[in-house]
Amino acid sequence: MAAQRFDVVVVGTGPGGYVAAIRCAQLGLSVAAIEDDRPGGVCLNWGCIPTKALLRNAEIVGLFQRAEEFGVTVGKWTADYAQAVQRSRRVADRMAKGVEFLFRKNKITLVPGTGTLKARNVVEVKGKDGAQTLEAKAIILATGSEPRSLPGVTIDEKQVISSNGAVRIEATPASLIVIGAGAVGMEFADVYGAYGVPVTVLEALPRVLPIEDEEVSALLARVFSRRGMTIRTGVRVQKVSPGKAGLTVEIEAEGKAERLEAEQVLMAVGRASRTKGLGLEALGVASERGLVTVGPTMETSVKGIFAVGDMTGRQMLAHKAMAEGVVAAEAIAGRSPRPVDYDNVPSCTYCRPQVASIGLSEAKARTNGREIAVGRFPFTANGKAVALGETEGFLKVVADKRTGEILGVHIVGSEATEMIHEFAVGRTLEATLEEIIHTIHAHPTLSEAALEATLAALGQAIHI
Ligand code: NAD
Repeated sequence: MAAQRFDVVVVGTGPGGYVAAIRCAQLGLSVAAIEDDRPGGVCLNWGCIPTKALLRNAEIVGLFQRAEEFGVTVGKWTADYAQAVQRSRRVADRMAKGVEFLFRKNKITLVPGTGTLKARNVVEVKGKDGAQTLEAKAIILATGSEPRSLPGVTIDEKQVISSNGAVRIEATPASLIVIGAGAVGMEFADVYGAYGVPVTVLEALPRVLPIEDEEVSALLARVFSRRGMTIRTGVRVQKVSPGKAGLTVEIEAEGKAERLEAEQVLMAVGRASRTKGLGLEALGVASERGLVTVGPTMETSVKGIFAVGDMTGRQMLAHKAMAEGVVAAEAIAGRSPRPVDYDNVPSCTYCRPQVASIGLSEAKARTNGREIAVGRFPFTANGKAVALGETEGFLKVVADKRTGEILGVHIVGSEATEMIHEFAVGRTLEATLEEIIHTIHAHPTLSEAALEATLAALGQAIHI
């Protein structure tokens, strides 16, 4: 069969791929997008979106548990985890259908199957109905990533599960050990914890969410512990094997060997790029430790082949992938896109309380050798937070003392993931502390904590 010709072929339809495809189509290019799973990739189907639905359920369960605090008497109530998972699947399906709709709207050809590079402008797609060949002037690779495991531990998605499996399993285990306290580990610990599962979180580094500011990690660990979860940091996991309760996890903590038991283990130790079988080596597409090397326009070492999203490493985040997809599309269309600003990517974790940050942590800002100003504002002093009954957390602003440049912002608390964007925009516009304090923040809002923490950095906080 003759090859079908397109201006651009996109391999993978996760956030990096589908956004790149749509932007290419908007710019007048003909586009085919290849997908071996479901449109929307891991994010829409097995990651960001279904977990947010599960976390919403956990939040509602949490509110029921606190009903008396609000003077609400509820009779006997139950929280059915199977129904939470079913709702989460419906949410994911709806969003994935949305991608198909957007493809139709933008006249993008969706090609089901697995793509392999055959030449710098040729992709072979193997699908249910056989193989076909697509030719393109440019190719955008966006094949994403998959959960990593530990050496010698197989993820079977029954006893040893990953985030991919966890979003599909409708039953909660009798007990759960979460290995890794990054975003995946903390979000699932929250979900299972809300449904009454005894949860133990094991983290190799000295604190939970180790990429976040130290104060944020400390508060989150305190809140999770108070809720009854066991949080253990500085722990080395040696082995996972069948055991009495289901699995035995052998660890080393403070130089001593220990054995922990649980019915299930959730592996949340990071993700690895999905590049196997793509044909990168044969074409000489450069990569380093499995991550595809790209320049500022997302072009790889092979002219005309671009790569975006998790497979390129740096922050493995959907919103970073989308931004890279736009850059690649615009570069292919002959525009001069502004490269992604990797120093201004918000980091968000959607557990309760939520965590969001941008820029440098206080410790990192200090090591840069500049004199810094730090302002904090606790949600206990924020009227809206008190009214909502969501007083756990704070907002912290780290700035250059001399210039007022905002170096980093760290939020832990209700709706932190929404509030961070004030500072994302501020940093894009190179706003200083002064500009934030001269911006009137509506009262009463959680966002007033942003104003107050900024005032605090200048020694002018009003409400504390
Ligand atoms: P991660 O890299 O963020 O966290 C993994 C954690 O596991 C780290 O803290 C690491 O120190 C720890 N770890 C590694 N080996 C260990 C061991 N042997 N024993 C104990 N702990 C160990 O990875 P993740 O949480 O799995 O998430 C994967 C990727 O997906 C990340 O890039 C993350 O940012 C992204 N993600 C983001 C969100 C979000 O933005 N809300 C949600 C889920 C995933």
